[in-house]
Amino acid sequence: MSFTLAIVGRPNVGKSTLFNRLVGKKLALVDDQPGVTRDLREGEAKLGDLRFTVVDSAGLEDATDDSLQGRMRRLTERAVEMADICLFMIDARVGVTPTDEMFAEILRKKSAHVILAANKGEGAAADAGVIEAYALGLGEPIRLSAEHGEGLNDLYSQIMPLADQFEKDAVDDTPEVDVDLDEDSDDEEDYSVPMPTNAKPLQVAVVGRPNAGKSTLINKILGEERLLTGPEAGITRDAISLRIEWGGVPMRIFDTAGMRKKAKVQEKLEKLSVSDGLRAVKFAEVVVVLLDADIPFEQQDLRIADLAEREGRAVIVAVNKWDIEDNKQEKLRELKESFARLLPQLKGAPLITVSAKTGRGLDRLQEAIMRAHDVWNRRIPTAALNRWLVGMLEQHPPPAPQGKRIKLRYMTQAKTRPPGFVVMCSHPDKMPESYKRYLVNGLRVGFDMPGTPIRLTLRSQN
Ligand code: GDP
Ligand code: GDP
Repeated sequence: MSFTLAIVGRPNVGKSTLFNRLVGKKLALVDDQPGVTRDLREGEAKLGDLRFTVVDSAGLEDATDDSLQGRMRRLTERAVEMADICLFMIDARVGVTPTDEMFAEILRKKSAHVILAANKGEGAAADAGVIEAYALGLGEPIRLSAEHGEGLNDLYSQIMPLADQFEKDAVDDTPEVDVDLDEDSDDEEDYSVPMPTNAKPLQVAVVGRPNAGKSTLINKILGEERLLTGPEAGITRDAISLRIEWGGVPMRIFDTAGMRKKAKVQEKLEKLSVSDGLRAVKFAEVVVVLLDADIPFEQQDLRIADLAEREGRAVIVAVNKWDIEDNKQEKLRELKESFARLLPQLKGAPLITVSAKTGRGLDRLQEAIMRAHDVWNRRIPTAALNRWLVGMLEQHPPPAPQGKRIKLRYMTQAKTRPPGFVVMCSHPDKMPESYKRYLVNGLRVGFDMPGTPIRLTLRSQN
């Protein structure tokens, strides 16, 4: 299956140049034909081993009247509607303009997948513009030179995983869910993202040591919930994942237990369950680490929880077999203490007690998954972030190594899934870890983001 990539951006940033490079031939549509209104152009693009349809939304140069903004907006919206991926291009030598910001806003609201490219990126004149591009809140910009063919590898590596996903979805025939992404989008103070964000099933992995109760848990969920597809009695259970609707939410659960049951040779078991765990973590948006209440926080549990955090997944710890626990209150206190001590990197992540056998606590687990996913996808408006930053700096000014105060200028959220922030500052290399931790913990509290990994990057700007 093929997918469509639309190149959008204001006039003269280099969209046609990139289009021509991807399509591989010089099309006769050029800038020096006054009065020619180009509309959306389509071509078959080739980039490495990827083949896709590319759409160029150029052609607005000729609109000189004040309807330019409106036309640009309409054309962009059309391009976004027809495209699976939007490549949003700015001119790195010019930097971010108000028109670029208008585009970014449309894309943030309307497009499921945006790739940000800072074009004309050859040479030092583009440095500042590339850094500015972070402030658009559309993730890490690719530094591109459409004219010189530079940065195409980076473009490839951003498109490739999405291409994989579209192929998988084509096979899965994922049912469509209508989501109104426009809802509440004008409300600056609303940090929540509508669920599900892109009408795809929420990807969950249940990992844990053998006998923790993974199979029992998944079967219980299956037993109580409607399955979406499947040949026999509505059950699909392939080696990789199963699709269900849990509490009305489409989910895809990575089933390591199901895979393990297929392993014939017993001694391979341990090895298999470790590599399964790794695969599961790669696959998942939310990782549920299932513990046996009797033997919680074993080495293997800690390793997989840590891996999930490092991979930037939302993590939930679920303690199973709670039905046979006698002293629940005392046990819970112990568990919380061990959790805080052994997995400090997961500060604030939920700890849920469940019984896979009786089904008790599964509704709370479902809610925790939804909430973790929501936080993981959260986008905080730049204005709110910077207001918050001012307060943080006042409350606790940054250090001054060798008498030189580190100045934090402004910050923006560069990515979601998990939330990643960029702070522009002087002497980023001198910033102590403790101050970074202060900011990260402050973000967690200030914007209610418990449990999700938060990435904070410092960039130099004097
Ligand atoms: P569009 O209006 O966005 O489609 O922009 P064009 O593709 O027509 O390019 C506008 C101008 O920028 C042309 O003169 C291009 O030659 C030039 N241009 C495009 N890409 C680059 C680049 O990577 N580096 C430089 N220096 N110029 C570029
Ligand atoms: P897996 O290896 O992680 O898939 O674990 P299983 O689902 O095969 O469960 C291992 C054992 O624990 C089985 O004997 C289950 O019946 C038992 N078990 C699983 N969940 C629970 C639970 O919530 N309560 C109790 N009492 N036993 C459970």
